[in-house]
Amino acid sequence: MPTLTAPEPTATTSAKKPFIRRHLLDHSQRIRHAVQIAFLALNAWLGLEFYLWVRYYETNGRGFYIDRPAGIEGWLPIAGLMNLKYFLSTHHVSAIHPAAMVLLVIFLISSWLLKKSFCSWLCPVGTASEYLWHLGQQLFHRSLILPRWLDIPLRSLKYILLAFFVYVVATLSADGLHQFLLAPFGIIADVKMLNFFRHMSLIGIAVILTLVLLSLMIQNVWCRFLCPYGALMGLVSILSPVKIRRDEAACIDCNKCTHACPSHLPVAQLVTIRSAECTGCLSCIAICPAENALNFAFLPRQTPNVQLAADISPAVQSLAISTIRWHNRALQPRTVVLILAILFFGLITAARITHHWQTNLPRSVYQQLVPHADDYTH
Ligand code: SF4
Ligand code: SF4
Repeated sequence: MPTLTAPEPTATTSAKKPFIRRHLLDHSQRIRHAVQIAFLALNAWLGLEFYLWVRYYETNGRGFYIDRPAGIEGWLPIAGLMNLKYFLSTHHVSAIHPAAMVLLVIFLISSWLLKKSFCSWLCPVGTASEYLWHLGQQLFHRSLILPRWLDIPLRSLKYILLAFFVYVVATLSADGLHQFLLAPFGIIADVKMLNFFRHMSLIGIAVILTLVLLSLMIQNVWCRFLCPYGALMGLVSILSPVKIRRDEAACIDCNKCTHACPSHLPVAQLVTIRSAECTGCLSCIAICPAENALNFAFLPRQTPNVQLAADISPAVQSLAISTIRWHNRALQPRTVVLILAILFFGLITAARITHHWQTNLPRSVYQQLVPHADDYTH
């Protein structure tokens, strides 16, 4: 049973009102970290498979052959966007990099259903960013918090980058997009991406090192300020029916949620977090000491009106209480994982069954293109 206790004195606790202490341990962050690590491992595996596939062609078939992992196309967001426009314009799935579109659609649907959960639960770059910041905390024991006048314009950088990519894709005709993807540059865009990291220029190394250094000092610097993919997910997430919701009656104004939010949102001052920056990471709920003060839910929480319930028949009372319980039902971390898993594995399986997952080109095409990937430009 929940226990009624006075709040523990903390530096930020301003209220003295009694509150119901949460009686169940919160496992959301453990579950989220497990999903992040699993997805990181999956991407490392895909990267290794893809590298071996590329080496097969670079060595003229002297290594052992491994099928090209279509999942690597998750790293081709522009191809995904192009294929999505091509599909919406022609109602045909492009034969080149169809998995890029399938994965983009999966992540867009997850952002619509569960806020920008892709960023905090699945994205390997988001995971690296998060862990780098924690490492920075261990090393420097402090974090650089940017002033608001700088934070807000920096956040808009990712939307400017997104606008640029959307503009480029939007101005190309469906036929133009198809021709682009069918050209050598389009076919081996993934190999060029791999080669960028394998044969990195000094400028590339300097940029990556700067980002790593900034990530150690500033929380989620890539995700909050620069990532156009996250910006797209964030815009879609505004339409999400599920939001972080704060019940003012249950809240004790301790401000812990605001301090825990990696997106630096003023959770303790809001009733509903509608921001495109909310990643559905549940860190605010994990730290909240008050029962039901914060929930990841479809609708704002309702308190049963006992006076009204006493005046009506037991059957109607029971129905009213059941309705309120259903209304108050919040998404648990396990449910978030279940929805993400159903979306991810369900849509990939559907794409495989309908032959819209693999790019099926003869090996001779790849043998001709892959060893000379760096020579092709668009
Ligand atoms: S509001 Fe909560 S769920 Fe959203 S980003 Fe902040 S801590 Fe995460
Ligand atoms: S919602 Fe935020 S301010 Fe309110 S009790 Fe929970 S952590 Fe404290």
